[in-house]
Amino acid sequence: MALGSETIGRKLLWSIGLPGLVVALLGVGHFSRETRQAVHEGTHLEALALAEFVASTFILPQAPGAAPHAAVADVLASDTRLFRSVEDLRVLMPNGRIRWSRRPAEQGHPHPEAERLSATGPETARSSENGTEVVRPLGGPECSGCHPSEAAQRMGVLQVRLGQPAMHRQLQTVFRDALGAMVLFVGILALVTWLSLRFVLTRPLKRLSEAMGRAESGDLLVRADARGTDEISRLGAAFNQMLARLTSMKVEEIDTHRDLELVKEKLALKDELEERLRELSLLFDVARSLNTTLELDELLSRITRLVVERLHIPDFSIMLLNEEGMLEVKHAWPQDRGLEGHIFAVGEGACGRAAQSRKAVYLPDLADSTSIFTRRGLRGTEQGSLLSVPMVHAETLLGVINFQRQETASFSGEEIELFTAVADQAATAVTNARLHAETVKLTLTDALTGVPNRRHLFQRLDLELARAQRFGVPLALLMVDVDHFKRLNDLAGHRAGDETLRRVSDVLRTRARKVDTLGRYGGEEFVLLLPQVSKATAFEVAETLRRAVAEAVMLNRPGLPGGHVTVSIGVSHYPTDATTQEALVDCADSALYCSKRTGRNRVTAFEAGMEMHPGRERSITAPPTDAPTTPPAPAGIAKA
Ligand code: GH3
Ligand code: MG
Ligand code: MG
Repeated sequence: MALGSETIGRKLLWSIGLPGLVVALLGVGHFSRETRQAVHEGTHLEALALAEFVASTFILPQAPGAAPHAAVADVLASDTRLFRSVEDLRVLMPNGRIRWSRRPAEQGHPHPEAERLSATGPETARSSENGTEVVRPLGGPECSGCHPSEAAQRMGVLQVRLGQPAMHRQLQTVFRDALGAMVLFVGILALVTWLSLRFVLTRPLKRLSEAMGRAESGDLLVRADARGTDEISRLGAAFNQMLARLTSMKVEEIDTHRDLELVKEKLALKDELEERLRELSLLFDVARSLNTTLELDELLSRITRLVVERLHIPDFSIMLLNEEGMLEVKHAWPQDRGLEGHIFAVGEGACGRAAQSRKAVYLPDLADSTSIFTRRGLRGTEQGSLLSVPMVHAETLLGVINFQRQETASFSGEEIELFTAVADQAATAVTNARLHAETVKLTLTDALTGVPNRRHLFQRLDLELARAQRFGVPLALLMVDVDHFKRLNDLAGHRAGDETLRRVSDVLRTRARKVDTLGRYGGEEFVLLLPQVSKATAFEVAETLRRAVAEAVMLNRPGLPGGHVTVSIGVSHYPTDATTQEALVDCADSALYCSKRTGRNRVTAFEAGMEMHPGRERSITAPPTDAPTTPPAPAGIAKA
């Protein structure tokens, strides 16, 4: 821009200075030419007049006694101002000799140009750069008074040559000076113009262009000089106004940009919040879904379903720490992969490492680090990414959940966090399920012997009886009572009594079938349910059990007469003896009472009309059958 203003100044300077110079030169040239022309003409006329004047002296009257044409000689010899410009003034005789001359030395000598001069016809005047020459023939009728008339016609030639007049030279000097002055004037004019342009135009323009340049490079706070009333100042003011508008627009733009950034941030925050909300809702759903069941197997199925459907994990397995401290795959998806039942050691593979470190282990590319599943040759586990998250509850490791996708590096940091939270939820749910199972077990199990307690026993009796009724199959009930147990307690102490109860229950349990149910009915009484056996078989089983107890359970305590612990057993049978739960129990009780009454350590099958246990009402509904009776057995604690 600075160059631009300089150029404008220079252009203006040239546009003013050059025409001025040209006009001055043309003016001077024209004036010089006109003046020279006038001087030439003047010289021409002067030469003609001088020739006329000299020629007229020939006809001046002669003074008596004077030499012929003495006036001519006098005139030529005179030093008047008339001859100031005369260079040559000669009178040639017809023979070409010089008769009179302004230069006396020439007189009498032939003229070198006599021939040219004589050949000239009437008077001629010729002007050149060097001067004006007039050649005038002399003679004529006026000379015939003194000269013979023939000779009077051609008396000679008058040559007048005027050199460049002084005026011409003066004019040349004047013009030269004028030219010099003109050049000087133009130079001064140019300088003055340049200076005034510089101060009035170039410099303000330069400042303005500098301000524009700074504004162009982003400095919107710059302002042009707007003092004054000229166009440049007005331009500066307009520029400042425009800049002020631009500044406010820029401010608006910055504000808008900031607003936009804020909106963007808010949007990003909103997205993040929505994402978090989605995650929270997912976690909530997971927690709700997992807390609606306390059955471990159902729970594991739900976890599998949730992970596959809600978390979009196509490959999944859940492992629980078994009693041996190994990780056992309990559930897996897809199910056809045969992953269930596989056992891994803690520290083995990604899942083992997750269990060991209790931190999530992420393998972004299984191709780089072969997973333990792949090493075991399990299909579909060779590629993609694997995330193993430990299930820890109250600092107790419960197992590991493995999430797998076919794409490499497909788990984001947020997802790892989310899946860790899901694993925590699952850990809580598994703990709850296990606690529940434990509680249920406790509520249904006798704490001393570990066999089902009375409540559980009656639930099973209900179930078995219903099944027997539905399928029309028999069911036997054996009521077992330790003989003289009170005495045993009294003699050996209650701890020994407890131990005896445990041993008796062990003997009964180990000899019972899987389908049989052994439960503790009361203090030292047990009930054994034998589904689908005849009364005779039940009797045999009871007999076997009685013998087994008598053989297996011994008590050797100081102060206690050593001997075998014996039991008495009463047998009732559905549908032979009774059809209801209570009646079956009563029948067995009656049979047991019979065993007691008849000497203990014996088995009695219920028979119709059998004496009821004291304090019991008869509730037997079924008709009595021909059940086998028992042979007498030795007393409760047999003597060794
Ligand atoms: P019988 O041969 O007629 O069956 O006589 P018994 O002494 O075995 O029968 P009784 O009903 O008179 O006594 C039962 C005793 O069993 C009374 C009670 O103190 C004891 N008993 C009940 N439950 C337990 C138990 O859990 N542990 C111990 N050590 N004793 C128990
Ligand atoms: Mg008893
Ligand atoms: Mg007893």
